[in-house]
Amino acid sequence: HAKQNGRCSFEFFNTSLERIAQYQLDLENKLRHAIGNNELTVFYQPQVSTTDMSISRMEALVRWYPQQGEAISPADFIPVAERSGLIDSVGEVVLRKVCAQIITWLNMGVKDFCVSVNLSAQQFSDVTLVEKISQCLTEHQISGKYLEFEITESMLLSDLEKATGVLNQLRELNISVAIDDFGTGYSSLKYLQKLPLDIIKIDRSFILELEQNPNEQSIVNAIISLAHSLNLRIVAEGVENPNVVSYLQDRHCEYIQGFYFYKPLDKQKMTDLLISGEKLSLINHR
Ligand code: C2E
Ligand code: MG
Ligand code: MG
Ligand code: MG
Repeated sequence: HAKQNGRCSFEFFNTSLERIAQYQLDLENKLRHAIGNNELTVFYQPQVSTTDMSISRMEALVRWYPQQGEAISPADFIPVAERSGLIDSVGEVVLRKVCAQIITWLNMGVKDFCVSVNLSAQQFSDVTLVEKISQCLTEHQISGKYLEFEITESMLLSDLEKATGVLNQLRELNISVAIDDFGTGYSSLKYLQKLPLDIIKIDRSFILELEQNPNEQSIVNAIISLAHSLNLRIVAEGVENPNVVSYLQDRHCEYIQGFYFYKPLDKQKMTDLLISGEKLSLINHR
């Protein structure tokens, strides 16, 4: 009996692995097609300033709307793009679209804004990354001050010396750098102090239960004071309720990015928002 069970579970394991492999392969082929077919677009999620509720920063988030079928989440296709080498093209599409959008906003008279773009591990380890970014800025004739890149803790740690070099080159281009999903990886406090960083983004997992969970409050308080003592600004991710907004405001967290204020917006809605220069009333959220 035992043998039979073993065999059964082995076969089950095998077929489900095959199914996963097939799914990944399908997705990879569809993605390759999607890139050529211009099915990728960029949405923008505002980061609201907690001091005056203004919006001058936003995160660029890639979206895939296939011609047939439902939207596919970046959480699903970015890992596939990473493994298949398609991330290069995805990253290039995103950066080009963001640069074009920056020009559009500048031409409309929007000033003092910054768009934050996610970099994957593969992109970050590409030795030609900075060259590609610099070329893109030159082609579009825009200053790096309108751009920020988001990297994660693990990307820094795999080769600290090389990472330092890349960050220094980005700073020379006037591009700022944020640590994404902060608190979920392995951090060394030493590199935080040594590296040319600008922003720490507190991961959504610490924000979700911030209200009820004293442990998470301690972690968030510690991250905020650490960041401030290192002259870094903070973005809190995934804020969905007003009490958390007040909590973060009271602790001088500079920016809030979350569904409570805005979901990621298409470029038209983001443009409308920037142009209206809408400021949410502080009182509204108290
Ligand atoms: P991320 O960089 O940590 O981006 C934040 C994610 O949290 C986004 O999901 C955003 O829509 C979501 N989010 C923001 N506020 C809230 C909230 O209040 N509640 C909830 N439930 N979610 C919130 P999205 O757009 O699905 O992206 C998922 C991940 O995919 C990103 O996580 C990032 O790692 C990756 N990604 C997205 N766009 C790109 C890209 O252009 N390039 C690369 N390399 N990765 C990307
Ligand atoms: Mg991000
Ligand atoms: Mg994040
Ligand atoms: Mg993430």
